[in-house]
Amino acid sequence: MINAYATQKPGGKLEPFTYDPGDLAPGDVEIDIQYCGLCHSDLSMLKNDWQISEYPFVPGHEVVGTVAAKGHGVHHLEVGQPVGLGWFGASCMTCEWCTAGHHNLCQNSQGLIVGRHGGFADKVRAHAGWVIPLPAGVNPESAGPLFCGGITVFNPIVQFDVRPTDRVGVIGIGGLGHMAVKFLDAWGCHVSAFSTSSEKEEEALSMGADHFVNTRSDGALEAVANSFDLILSTVNADLDWRAYINALRPRGRLHFVGAVPGPVAFDLFPLLMGQKSISATPLGSPATTARMLQFSARHGIEPVIETFPMSRVNEAMEHLHSGKARYRIVLKN
Ligand SMILES: [Zn+2]
Ligand SMILES: [Zn+2]
Repeated sequence: MINAYATQKPGGKLEPFTYDPGDLAPGDVEIDIQYCGLCHSDLSMLKNDWQISEYPFVPGHEVVGTVAAKGHGVHHLEVGQPVGLGWFGASCMTCEWCTAGHHNLCQNSQGLIVGRHGGFADKVRAHAGWVIPLPAGVNPESAGPLFCGGITVFNPIVQFDVRPTDRVGVIGIGGLGHMAVKFLDAWGCHVSAFSTSSEKEEEALSMGADHFVNTRSDGALEAVANSFDLILSTVNADLDWRAYINALRPRGRLHFVGAVPGPVAFDLFPLLMGQKSISATPLGSPATTARMLQFSARHGIEPVIETFPMSRVNEAMEHLHSGKARYRIVLKN
């Protein structure tokens, strides 16, 4: 039996919930959970914001723990090995995208908390292909957020061959943005942090930003016109995207990893004249996730976390909801 925390209805409180997962399927892995991060998607799914939630609903998709059991055919992992697991619980492994290494683009992938029970529990199961070994040098306590927030911002660095000579901007210094600043700084880039909160300046600089732009101050974006090779937006708010496109250098890219509510409005002419791009990416593949973990170990990159015991999960969810989390929350079993 698996002991978890579930809610029975949209927006409900999380309460102890025990379920029988049945026999371990071939190709699957069962993980003993030590830590599980909290993500805004857990909150959205709990409230059924995307109309895909099923109840009882067990959130949690930033799992770190050890391999408890292996299904038939799983040979590359050992029982007791430290591992992590993120948004995806499975993909088909045979389609054009899976076989090309783009498992994150599989049209038959399964979210760990979509029609399945997630990681606010003592154990969780997933397909072995998505269970990623945790390399030595990665701190298990703070690693959970790498498996959703971290890979979300690391993936575009790999997809678009960001170079150490690039000048980059990160919009939003929060759960995603603070990890983006750390990765891009270690990658070698000149990093500018864009934020509406001037009190985040000191912290952004200490995390590796070279420059802080307070976007609330008049003329701040005009002052950085024609400056960036890449601007990475991690926010979920509608901003003046024309001003950000204007802040790109020729061949620059405005890239979205945060889902903004409204349609993104822009004029084509500045894109056309400067050969600029607008793009978006989801979370990364298992291989890109493994690269991120190796890179994090090599450079000592850790998400900044606050820790709550798993038993105080409702308090932790409330803290996330209040917007006061600095910068990610991790539940500890
Ligand atoms: Zn997430
Ligand atoms: Zn597939």
